[in-house]
Amino acid sequence: MKLGIYGGTFNPPHLGHLAAARFALEALELERLRFIPAAEPPHKAMEENSPSPRQRLAMTALAADSLLQPGRVEVSGMELERSGKSYTVDTLEQLKQANPEAELWLLMGTDMFLTLQTWREPEVITRLAGICTFARAQSDSIRTLTAQAEELRRRFGASTRVLQLPRIVEVSSTQLRRMLADGDGQEYLPPAVYGYIIRHGLYGVRYDLRHLPDRELRACSYSMIQAKRIAHVRGTEEEAVRLARRWGADEEKARRGAILHDCTKYLNMEEQLQLCKKYGIVLDDLERQAVKLLHAKTGACVARDVYGVSDDVYEAIFWHTTGRADMSLLEKILYIADYMEPNRDFPGVERLRELAYRDLDQAVLAGNEMSIQEMKERGLPVHPNTVRSRDWLRSK
Ligand code: ATP
Repeated sequence: MKLGIYGGTFNPPHLGHLAAARFALEALELERLRFIPAAEPPHKAMEENSPSPRQRLAMTALAADSLLQPGRVEVSGMELERSGKSYTVDTLEQLKQANPEAELWLLMGTDMFLTLQTWREPEVITRLAGICTFARAQSDSIRTLTAQAEELRRRFGASTRVLQLPRIVEVSSTQLRRMLADGDGQEYLPPAVYGYIIRHGLYGVRYDLRHLPDRELRACSYSMIQAKRIAHVRGTEEEAVRLARRWGADEEKARRGAILHDCTKYLNMEEQLQLCKKYGIVLDDLERQAVKLLHAKTGACVARDVYGVSDDVYEAIFWHTTGRADMSLLEKILYIADYMEPNRDFPGVERLRELAYRDLDQAVLAGNEMSIQEMKERGLPVHPNTVRSRDWLRSK
């Protein structure tokens, strides 16, 4: 197995790190790539008020997830679990022991590569891993990198690869920390990492979570879910806003409800139940077993309590999975937008899309019927509120 290792402080991880990682994955044909945030980098002092190592690990996990290669790209907290400074040689020895068959490749930008001979035990590092480097600024000379590769080969017998990135994102975490404190720099971050920074008030970024602009609300929502779900949430937002315009509902409310509708989707049963307890959500028998049904209720509570959405948006999120009898316009819009947003693809979705703009009640009814049918086919219980929604619409 070819295993890539990308170490760094990741304070915070940014698009420069990700552009290099994405290219190296393919250029080196890595089967796995592991981001390993340093607990205590040997070569630089952490500023006071820096995020905790756990927070850097969480941001790095979000950044890695944004590459959308789960199972191939991952994050390891192994350096955080060791005490003292994080020496690469120790990490490589540990990795080699755990994966004796693996071919290790250490990824690094120009600054790190040009000083490799000064690291602790470079001869061991280069024996345990190949070194792959890339320029991190246009001005970095490939000739200098190639000369250093030659020198490492001569002195230590190192295996090296010098990659020419097709796109260099010229930014450092140091610059980014300054920019963020001044209210800039978001474009250098994966949105989920920016959301995490907002939620935790890192790097001097201060927002009132209950009054976030749309972009910041999106970022917060994306930081709470897996990256593979972001396209769906984005699609639901677009669809909900279009439907609100078509049916004369409040577009901003439809937007905010859609942005947050799945914000607790990835919590496990225990976490869901904790939120239910916190917010006094009373569960029926079915909900106590089906974690999928809980996220609508807990998501609605978090949306109202943490992000300050109004009661009607809270209701729309609360009912978006099951529906209920006599839904409000906003509730119907979120229910059906979630069902048939542009990324959805299942038999009958085109009919739903057409109906949603012609007769909203008929679209919701068709959605209820499809869900009931699907649950029956899969031998799963149907939530009574979906049946009530269907019966109410049928009787209209
Ligand atoms: P700081 O500014 O705090 O020193 P940094 O931006 O250099 O941080 P690190 O987390 O220390 O980020 O870097 C980890 C690794 O990523 C290093 O090997 C570094 O050379 C590389 N790297 C950092 N920024 C870029 C970039 N913009 N493009 C390519 N590689 C980068």
